[in-house]
Formats: sequence, C-alpha cells, structure tokens
Amino acid sequence: MSKTIAFATVGCRLNQAETQEMEELLASRGYRAVPFEEPAQVYVINTCTVTGRADFSDRQMIRRAIARNAEALIVVAGCYAQTDAAAIARIPGVDLIVGNQEKYELASLLDSLTKRAKPVVRVGDIRKAAKVPVGPVTHFRGRSRAFLKVQDGCQHRCAFCIVPYARGGSRSQEPKVIVDQVYRLVESGYGEVVLTGVDTGYYGWDLFPRTNLAALIRQILGVPGLRRLRLSSILSPYFTDELIEVVAGSPRLCPHLHIPLQSGSDRILRLMRRPYNTRIYQSLLERLSRAISDLGLGADVIVGFPGETKADFEATRALIEALPFSYLHVFSYSDRKGTEATRLPGHLPARTITERSKALRQLGRAKNLAFCRRMVGRPWEVLVLEERDKSTGRLTGLTGNYVEVLFEGPDEWMGRFVNATVTEAAADRTVGEVVG
Ligand code: SF4
Repeated sequence: MSKTIAFATVGCRLNQAETQEMEELLASRGYRAVPFEEPAQVYVINTCTVTGRADFSDRQMIRRAIARNAEALIVVAGCYAQTDAAAIARIPGVDLIVGNQEKYELASLLDSLTKRAKPVVRVGDIRKAAKVPVGPVTHFRGRSRAFLKVQDGCQHRCAFCIVPYARGGSRSQEPKVIVDQVYRLVESGYGEVVLTGVDTGYYGWDLFPRTNLAALIRQILGVPGLRRLRLSSILSPYFTDELIEVVAGSPRLCPHLHIPLQSGSDRILRLMRRPYNTRIYQSLLERLSRAISDLGLGADVIVGFPGETKADFEATRALIEALPFSYLHVFSYSDRKGTEATRLPGHLPARTITERSKALRQLGRAKNLAFCRRMVGRPWEVLVLEERDKSTGRLTGLTGNYVEVLFEGPDEWMGRFVNATVTEAAADRTVGEVVG
C-alpha cells in the first residue's frame, strides 16, 4: 500500500520548485502526497534560512508536523538544514535532516528510516556542489503557474546574505534538461512558466559549452504551446545587450523584471559588497523602461544597513522616486548570524529602521498605485489564478506585467487566460471586467 507524505515549504520560489521535485521523485516511488494539514505517515519540511524569522517559521512548521502525528517520520530539508543541522537535531521528534543536495536522495534515505531518538543527518559540504541535480517536474500542486529551477547557488558574497552558505556557488542546469521540462509542463497545461534560481543572471557560465540566459530564453521560447515565460530576480550587471534585446523583443516573455537595488547610496552598496553602483542601475532601468512598454519593474531594498546615514537613506529615497518601479519589496535590516554585516560598525536603532522602512513602503505603494492607474481603461490578458481573492471572493487574474486584477467569473476559468479590462485601480486592489 502506498505511504502518505505531506510537504511544507518555507521561503522562496526556488524552494517551492524543489519541493515539487521531491514530491514527484517520491510519487514515482509509490508515495502519495496529501495536504500538510492532513494526517500523513511522512512529513517533509523544506526550510529557508534567509533571516532569523525564517528559522523561526521553520521550527514552527517542524513542531506543527510533530504535533499532528507523533508516529509520523519527520524529515527536515533545505537551507536551514544545510546551515544549522545541529539546531534542528535538538528538536525532539525529528528523524532525518537532509541538506540541499541530499534532498534529491530522499526516496532511498526513506527506505530504511524508522522513528528514532536521534535524527539521521545527511548534510554534505555545499561548497563542493558542482551540478544541479535533475528532478522531474510535470505539475505544481494547486498552482496555475509552474516554477522551474534553472540554476542554484550564488557567485557573490553580499555582506548581509547567508544564501551562499546554504546553497554554495553558482551552477546551472543543462539547457536540454530545462527545455524537456518546459515541454512536459506545457503538456500538463501550464500557461506560464517562471524561471527560478538564486543568481539566475549567471546562468550558463559554468556549463560546457558555455552558454547564457539569453540563449536559454530563446530555446525555451521555441517550445510550441508555451504562452508565457517569466523571469525571476536578476542582478543589474547581468543585463548584457543580448539579454536586453531578448527580453525586449519576445512578446511571450512577460514584461516584468525584478532587479534588486538594496540601496540608493553607492557607499552603502560598497559596504554591502553589491556588484554594481547606482549609475549602472539607474541607466539600466531607464533603458529597459524605454525599450519595453508597460514594463512591470520591481526591486528589493534593505533599509537600515549598518552605517546607513540619513543622507544615504535620502539618496535611496530619491533614486526610487526617480525610477519607474511598479512595486517595491522593502526589508528592514536585521542581523543574520554568520554574515559579515553583523560585524560592521554603525548598527542603527530599531526605531530609525522602522521609520525609514515605513517611509519607503509608503513610497512603494504610491508607485504601485500610479502604475496600476495607468492600466485603467485598457484590456489585459490575464492568467486566472487558482484562488479567489479572500476579501471579495472574486477571481484573480495575473497580467504579464505582474498586476493582480480582480473580476467576477466562474471557477472554470481558473488556470486559463482571459482578457480583462481594468476598470479601477485603488490603493488596495485593481479591479476589472472580462471582455470578449
Ligand atoms: S547576490 Fe548577494 S544577496 Fe543575492 S544570493 Fe548572492 S550573496 Fe545573497
């Protein structure tokens, strides 16, 4: 009889993509996936460790699984497992801890696993990881968009970031493997594929023969039936002329880019060890928004990095005001154990960080509203997501430029493309009507 298995994912899209890979690998070995809220014989928590708060969420999820069924096997995988297996091993009830490479061997590790007093730990040296393991992906539980992992690890060593310790150096999946996966996803009916990775712009530089992200995008767009391809976060220095040309010239590539900024002060960017300056960043964004009409542009910003003066903060605010962002992700700086930034002088009082974050969030909301208002009165092709808006009960459609439009319609539209005219953009929602 098949065993039941339940997965929980904490963190980013890459982690979601990897949970899906684990789920399919285990399905091929006879495990039947059930929702995390239901009783299962095995629980897998795929963890994140990007902040102290993420570690806290991981521990909560682990305890929740243990409380659900004391007899179940509890497996902890992912970034927290990779960086702090010892902390997880102290939680009574955990049976297996697997690192980011070893999670692909879960099926064979589970074969001999029994309930035990001390967990089995399988966490290798991620710095030695040279390949991206191949995981099968044909569907995404409860999602109309598929996240596809094309790259893992990061070449950079930003002062605030723990990710390179959790995921190792940058490495890419073979283009053929990725294109085959896109074929399978299209066959399964996915209208949108999102390419994910940690340092996605680096794609292909480690492969032999060497290739790049622009070439990969061209190959993927050759897959018949693929309606939409979306890129996730890409650092500004990776935008070569070739990549800009591909991004601007491919109608099926979503007009949506997420280009992390982190600070608008060159002094702070240097302290952060970011591989660009504000001049490069600004001219890139201006060029992209001239080349791609209605481009949805997002950025991450960290507020209150150690040493950030009032003048540095004002430089960030002024740069954001000047640039055509459609949304912002604002993060309040907090020390991440094990990173260089924790040792830097000039840590800011929590109140200053909160006030500055609030100001930037407000600015982000204003930019988003202005962007959505410019969409009013025009029809947009939207992909209908699988969940209704919680407060209004309406369907939610995602535009190519990454705006969620709410409208009335039946459940049968979920997972399909429809055309919706935006009728209203308010601070908390963008509303439309389906046409045609
Ligand atoms: S680019 Fe910097 S912030 Fe992003 S994953 Fe790499 S080290 Fe972390």
